[in-house]
Parts: sequence; structure tokens; C-alpha cells
Amino acid sequence: VKARAIESIFLTRASRPEVPSTRVLVLGGDTTGILVAERLAGEGFPVLLLGPSDGASVPDTVAVLSGMELEEIRGFVGGFDIVLGNSTGRSVERVGFVVAAQPEDVVPKFQDYGLAKSESVRSLSDVEAHVRSSAMTVPRHGEWSHVAFLLGLERGSDPTVLSRTLAVIETLGQMEKVQTYVFTRQLKVAASGLERQYRECRENGTIFFKFDDAGPIFEGDPEAPVMVFNEPLLGREMELVPDLIVVDEHLGPPTSLNPLLEAMPISFMADPYLQPESTRFSGVETPKAGILALGPSRGVFDPNLIKSDVESVLAVLKQAGDEPRDKNLPGPPEIDPAKCTMCLTCVRLCPHGAMTFAKTAQADPDTCVRCGICAVECPMKAITLAPGPGQTAIDSRVQQGLTRTTSSKKILGFLCSRSAGQALHASKMEILENLVPIVVPCAGSLDVSHILHAFQEGADAVIVAGCFKGNCASGYGTVLAEERSRMAREILDTVGIEPSLLQFVSTAGNTPGVLARAVSELETRFSALT
Ligand code: SF4
Ligand code: SF4
Repeated sequence: VKARAIESIFLTRASRPEVPSTRVLVLGGDTTGILVAERLAGEGFPVLLLGPSDGASVPDTVAVLSGMELEEIRGFVGGFDIVLGNSTGRSVERVGFVVAAQPEDVVPKFQDYGLAKSESVRSLSDVEAHVRSSAMTVPRHGEWSHVAFLLGLERGSDPTVLSRTLAVIETLGQMEKVQTYVFTRQLKVAASGLERQYRECRENGTIFFKFDDAGPIFEGDPEAPVMVFNEPLLGREMELVPDLIVVDEHLGPPTSLNPLLEAMPISFMADPYLQPESTRFSGVETPKAGILALGPSRGVFDPNLIKSDVESVLAVLKQAGDEPRDKNLPGPPEIDPAKCTMCLTCVRLCPHGAMTFAKTAQADPDTCVRCGICAVECPMKAITLAPGPGQTAIDSRVQQGLTRTTSSKKILGFLCSRSAGQALHASKMEILENLVPIVVPCAGSLDVSHILHAFQEGADAVIVAGCFKGNCASGYGTVLAEERSRMAREILDTVGIEPSLLQFVSTAGNTPGVLARAVSELETRFSALT
């Protein structure tokens, strides 16, 4: 996949549009795709909807592409080229944004439990469809019908699957002489209304068996097994011969996400979803500008949350149309063609998929977030990221800060603007008298030379403060910063400076105490050494 992505960078990149397109491609497949397409068209966006479900009614305001599959996406926000194909050929459409709104992949867990699909062993979706069609009859071999629901017996229940299960149980509860059982490991009732649904099912007679470890064993015919288990409360072995076993399902990312995953920065491609697991990406935005992920494409399956994702997509796209790019941002990285050897390091490492090639490396100005990682990682030092308006380069800010300070101890802090810089601002820690703060766009924009330069200019100790791992908006900026701090400590050691006077710390905008403690520890350490 990586080789293909790199090849596509060279061979199939999209040309940058003169005028950014506001056209939106919605990747659909069920009612959610139609809903988001309709909402966007209603707000005046030209919308292309790919793959609505057969026979679905789509409003006239939405252009529909059917019988085609998405093969590839090239380019950047405002100018994506979408390659579509089918058995008769390929075509290319130009759009400004892509919204992934495909339904989830649903895989029943028959195999996980060693069961086989039959009249007596059915998936949750299958039983739901019967309940909806009102043609539901429950198999029964005696006067009473015993229906066993299996729910997250390996890893705990998914709240969406639990809610669906409880809804089916509620319907069965209205039938004559049906006894329902739920076999589960851990019920996650955190989602809205679930606790109530669960309580009502219990009160209406459903028996819940919750297992800490070994759950039931299925003996005999996998199409009509006997369930043997240790009753968790009484510790007694029990046997149940259900008339119907309802098997729960894995909910996973849509398989049609692959072309979108390939368009993502290479560093994020291993993720099955379009969003990395990080609180930085709690909305519908992805690491790549212009590609938005809704519901299952970002690992969200709760129908209520999917509905609010639809509104979030609308808000993001309206804002993109309303607001020109932040004027306070510096220009994108500049590449010196005389130094660039086209090694692809910047393409591989850009966490936002902003780098491409023309005759030399180039950053798309609307995709680049100016994190500075490429400039530090380029082995040829061919990339320069200009300081923001009103700012000077990091080294000169270090020099000025250390010259101006009048404090007895000089603790220089390189603070990531998205975490420690915000903590400093919010808590008014400017009053930390010994701290000389230098706010940098991302901790990953710091080179070893910046750290060493701070000591050279007279810093008594240095703190590098980045985000918590997994919470870095640029993916691995904080990991790079920690590694460079480790390398700088090794160099300090060789030149006779106590390495523990350089400290890396992870923090967040709402945890100012972490930074304050680190400053205080360094002050104490420095005092003890002098
Ligand atoms: S990392 Fe530097 S040398 Fe390599 S392609 Fe990018 S700009 Fe050119
Ligand atoms: S500054 Fe950051 S976002 Fe911009 S091209 Fe470089 S690595 Fe990518």
C-alpha cells in the first residue's frame, strides 16, 4: 500500500486548482449518505453522491453516481481528483471535499463462538429484520420458547450492539411465553438511554448472565447446540437448550474506505479508520484537510452520534467556505531546489499529507498546518519554515529571551503551542519567574541544535514540553521531540553538562500543574548542583 501511495505521489498527483472547488463527493451506501448529501445540497453545496442503496429515493438537488466504484483520490483540499471505475472504464471527477459516509461492515460472530448459522442460530441483524417485518415467529420445542442472546462474550459489549439487542428483547417481551437470556462479559451502558433499556428488560424478566472469564461452552451440533456454563452467582454448572441463539456482531470500518486510507498521510495508513485514536480528532476532521469522516468511517456506530456527525460535516464545510485561511499563519515551508535530492523523507513524514512533488518537493499551502516536522527531518536541510507574522526564528527568540531575563536561574522552556503553550497562557504562568518560555508550533519542530543552542546561550536548564503521546495533533511530533531530547542529553553528557538539566515532559492545555512541577524540579536540581 505504501509503495502504491508513493508511486501515486509521483505519477498521479492532481494539479492545484486556480479556484478551489466547493463541490463535495459524498461516499454513501445507506440512508446516512443520502441524509448528509441532502443537507449539504440544501445549504447550496454542489453534491455528488456515490452509491446510494438500490431503489433509494434521492432528492433532485443531489447528483448521483451509481454503478461506479471509488478507485483513487489524488490531490488536496479544494482540488481532489476522484478516479471512479467499473468494468467498462474509468472517469475522473474534480471535487473540493470528500465525505466518507458509508455504512459499517457487519460481521456476525458465528465463528468466534464455534457456531453455525441455522434456523436455531441466527445473527442479530437477521433477527432484527424479522422483527421489523412483523413476520417474526420464535422457534419453540415446548410450551415456552427460550431465546439466548450472546453479547460481547470475548471483549465486552459494544453499546450500539447492546442497544439493538435490548430493542429486540423488548419486542420479544410482547410475545406470549418467550423467556429471554443474555450471556455477556461486561455490559457497557454508558450511552444515552441504555441504562434505562437494560433496567426495563431485567424488570420484564430477561435473565442476564455476566461472566468474568470462562463463558458458556457450546456442546453438540453447532447449528443447535446445548449451552453449558457455570452460573456466575451460584457457581453451579447449568445447561440450557435454547430454541433460538442470537449471535452478536462485530461492527467494523467500511471496506470501501481503502482508497481514502491510501490518500491519508502514510503515517496514518495502518489505521482501519480515517481518524487516528486521539482526542485531537473527536470531530469529523481527519489528518488530511478536505477529507471528512462520518460515523463508521471514524469508528462511531451509535445512530444518535452519526446524526450529530452529519451536522458537524455541515458546520466544517460551511466554515471552510466562510473563512479564508488564518492570516496569522506563516507561509508554507519553502524548499531549496538546489539542496532537495527528492529523497521523499518529507512526503513520508508529513503527518498531514501536505507534501507532494513537482520538480522538487512542495507543500500544499491549504493542507500544511506549519508543524515544522518536515524542516527538521529533511536530511539535506532543504526546507525552511518561516516564523509566523511578528515572530523571529527560534534561535533568535532563545537568545533574546535569555538576554532579557533578570531571574537568578534561567530555565528555558520550549513549549508546544497546542499543549504546554496553552497551559501557560490559560494559567497565567508567565509569572513563573525563572521560566523563559519559547512557544513553538509543534514540539516536533524542535531540532537537537535548538536545544543545544539554548545551553550555549546561557540557559541553566531546559524543558521540552510536548503533548501526551497519542494526543499530538501532528501524530508523532511529541515522539520526535522526546527522542531528540534524549539525543541532546547524550551530547550534553559528552561536553560535561549534567544531562538531567534537560527534561522532556508531556502535558496538555488543561494540565498546567505538570509544567509548573517540571520547572520547580529543574530549579531544585540546578540549585543542588551549584
Ligand atoms: S526531505 Fe528534503 S531532500 Fe528529501 S525530498 Fe523532502 S525537501 Fe527534498
Ligand atoms: S510543516 Fe508539517 S504539515 Fe507542513 S508540510 Fe511540513 S510536515 Fe507537513
